[in-house]
Amino acid sequence: MANSGQKVVLITGCSSGIGLRIAVTLAKDEKKRYHVIATMRDLKKKDKLVEAAGDAYGKTLTLLPLDVCSDESVKQCINNVKDRHIDILINNAGVGLLGPVESISIEEMKKVFETNFFGVVRMIKEVMPDMKKRRSGHIVVMSSVMGLQGVVFNDVYTASKFAMEGFCESMAVQLMKFNIRLSMIEPGPVHTEFETKMMEDVAKMEYPGADADTVRYFKDVYLPSSIDIFEAMGQTPDDIAKCLKKVIE
Ligand code: NDP
Repeated sequence: MANSGQKVVLITGCSSGIGLRIAVTLAKDEKKRYHVIATMRDLKKKDKLVEAAGDAYGKTLTLLPLDVCSDESVKQCINNVKDRHIDILINNAGVGLLGPVESISIEEMKKVFETNFFGVVRMIKEVMPDMKKRRSGHIVVMSSVMGLQGVVFNDVYTASKFAMEGFCESMAVQLMKFNIRLSMIEPGPVHTEFETKMMEDVAKMEYPGADADTVRYFKDVYLPSSIDIFEAMGQTPDDIAKCLKKVIE
């Protein structure tokens, strides 16, 4: 439970990658300013986080189950937070999807929007009433550089992040009136399981309907240059966690 003076921070998608490192970084804050509620949809995946949190686990870091795609899970999770009081909500959970639209079913596309767009909307809707009542709060959303710029064969992922950018830009003005901040983080490439999965998806990828020049551009220009960018400039989840800490301080 949070001590008085500690900010309650709820983070989505803490089983791996960026979410895990944000949770650990804030839970290990040298001034113990945060009580972190690290959430994940499958608590069987908690070991990596618990190990990384070390002594902070059970003290400045506690766990709750949360699937951002389920209305019920979102409501239950927030109801399990003492007095539903969350000072800082970090919407990190997200999924990628790569390939020409002809090879992707509408159902698969909807799953990406369910997580990356409606997952964030569900969370914001659930925490907003309490934040408005207290006239204080901070909502952080993990977008992507692909929330600002389209990228070939990332059409659906890009669209989901663009949608979230539009939603948050519109919401920010309304929330400001209640002294609630809304911040977007737009990382470039980050070395996580997300990246590993994307590379696996590329290896299996087929290109029905795509024209030969686009496929050639993707395979011979875009992919090699992306890998170069990853190697030269790719950030680590810890870099993003440090940046986020500055945003919420
Ligand atoms: P990871 O795949 O390592 O982590 C994604 C996290 O989201 C996992 O914990 C995953 O849980 C969780 N998640 C997925 N679906 C749900 C759901 N329905 N409910 C709750 N949690 C869910 O990827 P990253 O750490 O790289 O990605 C984190 C965020 O950063 C994403 O929003 C992504 O779009 C964004 N981002 C990533 C970049 C990168 O290069 N890696 C660049 C820019 C932005 P589970 O283990 O259960 O699948």
